[in-house]
Amino acid sequence: MIGIKVEKKKQYQDTITTIPCPKKITIPYSKDSIIKVKVKDTVKTGTVLGICNELPIISSVSGVVTKIKPNIQIDVTIDKFEKIKHDSLIDALKKASIYGLSGSFKPTYLKYNQPAKTLIVNMMECEPYVMADYATTINYIKEIKEMLIYLLNNHPFEEVIIAYPNNQRNLRETLTTSFEDNENIRLVSLPTLYPLGWEKLLVRAIKHVDYQENPIEVGCIVSNVSTIYAMYKAYFLNIPLYERVITVVNEDDKYNVLIRNGMKVKDILSYLKISYNDKKIVLGGLMMGREVTPNTVVTLKENSIFCIDDVKQEESSCIRCGKCVNTCPVKLSPVLIKEQINSSRLTRLHPEKCIECSICSYICPSRIPLKQIVLTAKKKVNEHE
Ligand code: SF4
Ligand code: SF4
Repeated sequence: MIGIKVEKKKQYQDTITTIPCPKKITIPYSKDSIIKVKVKDTVKTGTVLGICNELPIISSVSGVVTKIKPNIQIDVTIDKFEKIKHDSLIDALKKASIYGLSGSFKPTYLKYNQPAKTLIVNMMECEPYVMADYATTINYIKEIKEMLIYLLNNHPFEEVIIAYPNNQRNLRETLTTSFEDNENIRLVSLPTLYPLGWEKLLVRAIKHVDYQENPIEVGCIVSNVSTIYAMYKAYFLNIPLYERVITVVNEDDKYNVLIRNGMKVKDILSYLKISYNDKKIVLGGLMMGREVTPNTVVTLKENSIFCIDDVKQEESSCIRCGKCVNTCPVKLSPVLIKEQINSSRLTRLHPEKCIECSICSYICPSRIPLKQIVLTAKKKVNEHE
């Protein structure tokens, strides 16, 4: 099985702390969005602020709009809620603006518009220290079960497979107790290897088949468990997606927190009394994430915030160990890409296939920043096409 062990033993915690709304919220949107509110408008949590890619941009708070460009800013007041009305699952997924919460952040209704025989529920959460999906599962198992049973009964699925990490007894017991009476829902435990939560590797590990672009080619839909819970809230409770659970890690302290779209990193760290001065802040996972500042806005795409010591590691020459080649999950040769970055032969090494997992940088004994080099090569190749 492809993947590496990046964390000796994950210390899971299932408590979820709600981060209170700050005084201001910033909701980012892409250039092609159509904004429907104007300055001084009063909005509720759930109000549609605009449209992006045919899906609504949902307000995550109640308050007064104070700015539209470049982001929507809202001065927060007391919470009032605006629920959606829908006439089907697909309609609910659209109106509630449900996106895949695994990191892909693609519109979920596009998946469930397709006929598939197998639904794979991804609980692998293979990024080190991240346990937001775990906490969501433990706290909302009844709701997740109700959604899965609805999908089995109302979609052409023949089976639901729940993939979870094999090092978590509490999760295994919760899943076994909850699903023992459902013969069409199968539990599959997999090794805690990174990046086994990546869709392609997960489908290969469970179904022993490969696909080109999309799991539907082999009859599968893959959904992250937090997305299933968001679907439940949209369909059964008419609540749009405006909040999610993420993990915050500061040295040995780890928290699962419920955040609203548009909070800043410092809003979250300050509430948890985490001192972030002189620390490196990484948003979105130690492996897949990026370095950010305390003022960075956290969107629902992110699963974690890390506050870590900023230790600079000395880079040395390549020792030709081949580890970067042997561990790349998409079978690239990072060391060769590095050597050929200015050569016309670069296209033959297909850096555009890189999934940005960071394994090559992590594994390299010479501390060469291979991921950044491959990303530069990827950009070059993509610009040429
Ligand atoms: S970052 Fe890209 S090149 Fe490096 S191991 Fe991951 S997929 Fe391969
Ligand atoms: S892992 Fe680092 S040292 Fe080993 S071959 Fe790749 S670039 Fe060279």
